[in-house]
Amino acid sequence: MKAIVVGGGIGGLATALSLHAQGIEVEVFEQSRTIRELGVGINTLPHAIKELAALGLLDELDRIGIRTHELIYTNRFGQEIWRDLRGTDAGYEFPQFSIHRGKLQGVLHKAVLERIGGDKVHPGHQLVRFEDTGGRVTATFERREGHDDVTVTGSVLIGADGIHSTVRKAFYPDEGAPSWNGLMLWRGAVEGKPFLTGRSMIIAGGMSAKFVCYPIYNDPDTPGSTLLNWAVVARIGDGSTPPPRREDWSRLGDRAELMNHVDGVFTLDVVDPVAIINSTVDFYEYPMCDRDPVDRWSFGRVTLLGDAAHPMYPVGSNGASQAILDARCLAGLLAGGGAVEDALKAYEAQRLPMTAEIVRTNRKGGPEQVIDLVEERAPDGFGKLEDVATREELEAMVRGYASLARFSQSDVNKPGG
Ligand SMILES: Cc1cc2nc3c(=O)[nH]c(=O)nc-3n(C[C@H](O)[C@H](O)[C@H](O)COP(=O)(O)OP(=O)(O)OC[C@H]3O[C@@H](n4cnc5c(N)ncnc54)[C@H](O)[C@@H]3O)c2cc1C
Repeated sequence: MKAIVVGGGIGGLATALSLHAQGIEVEVFEQSRTIRELGVGINTLPHAIKELAALGLLDELDRIGIRTHELIYTNRFGQEIWRDLRGTDAGYEFPQFSIHRGKLQGVLHKAVLERIGGDKVHPGHQLVRFEDTGGRVTATFERREGHDDVTVTGSVLIGADGIHSTVRKAFYPDEGAPSWNGLMLWRGAVEGKPFLTGRSMIIAGGMSAKFVCYPIYNDPDTPGSTLLNWAVVARIGDGSTPPPRREDWSRLGDRAELMNHVDGVFTLDVVDPVAIINSTVDFYEYPMCDRDPVDRWSFGRVTLLGDAAHPMYPVGSNGASQAILDARCLAGLLAGGGAVEDALKAYEAQRLPMTAEIVRTNRKGGPEQVIDLVEERAPDGFGKLEDVATREELEAMVRGYASLARFSQSDVNKPGG
């Protein structure tokens, strides 16, 4: 068996490592000329970390990330609405990591090069078409160097090629552009002072604007300083039009546009959003885009994985986590020894319904609904939280999401779970 993986993002690289661990030959093709450590901070949840730990990567993650201790939700005045311990601090067997997306990709890439070999990773190769001939799959890549085409044959083709997936487009040619909900997400990272435990994550605000902040790296050479990741989510459209600029994770944001949603909006004790943003030289914008869940990912010997399969709003820390879970599930099934087509169907049956539900729940705000609800009922702040929302209401939103995304403690800690 030989697998062709299209895309060298977190999903594609995790898939390559997982397939290799199962003894399956694999090659990765990435359209970018180099696999560069792009993006800013993300969170990866304990169930995904469990899978990366099984691949022997836990020490590396500890070297480049921070084990998230707690997540605090507040309104825009810093009044606490919900607080949860996270990862091992909450009793999970595995940590949650706050981590630089590019550095996580870098750890996976390094492991792929070491374990599978540099000759099996092909940057500068853009998939242009593929053909499933029944017994084999043939994929054609346009090489950036030389602008010629290369044809590769394998037993299975895995489209881990992101929200603008070429593989998905072949099966859903009329799907069009991703849909936008009118919210813009600005993200950046900057050296700053640690706050609270030094491993805390805060999400403040509500429907009109949210400020997210958490540390992602402590450089041992600069004690007393930490790399703070921040994000602001604010409404700039009603969702009936395409975004003002095409969704691109590497697009720089406009400071004046962003500050309209921050200046005078947040008064938080623990962090100062205006100061943090103003000290960030370059930051990025990304319109909150996703796609409607589809009924099928697997067609013969070809399937979809990660954002190509289930692009979702980046809320609830699930984008990278679900891609890693897809990878491990798919590799396990392909190693089962049955027909490739059956393994791909079984993978789809295991992963599609649950990820479709996460896509839908993220549209409603995911676990962050707790701050939306409180802002709606008490836009100017509150005296006592219990006069605004009951603990049961808030708990249902947070815990309901955890069990939906299969990272409740009972899911992650159970043997073999
Ligand atoms: C540059 C970048 C920065 C990001 N930054 C953030 C962030 O700051 N916060 C956040 O929450 N999420 C971010 N994301 C998204 C996040 O990484 C994903 O949601 C999640 O990790 C799932 O990853 P994926 O591998 O499925 O998709 P992606 O991470 O999108 O990876 C898909 C890969 O496929 C490649 N590709 C696409 N088309 C082709 C083709 N035709 N042929 C060959 N290769 C192709 C792409 O270049 C890309 O490397 C970023 C994604 C990218 C690509």
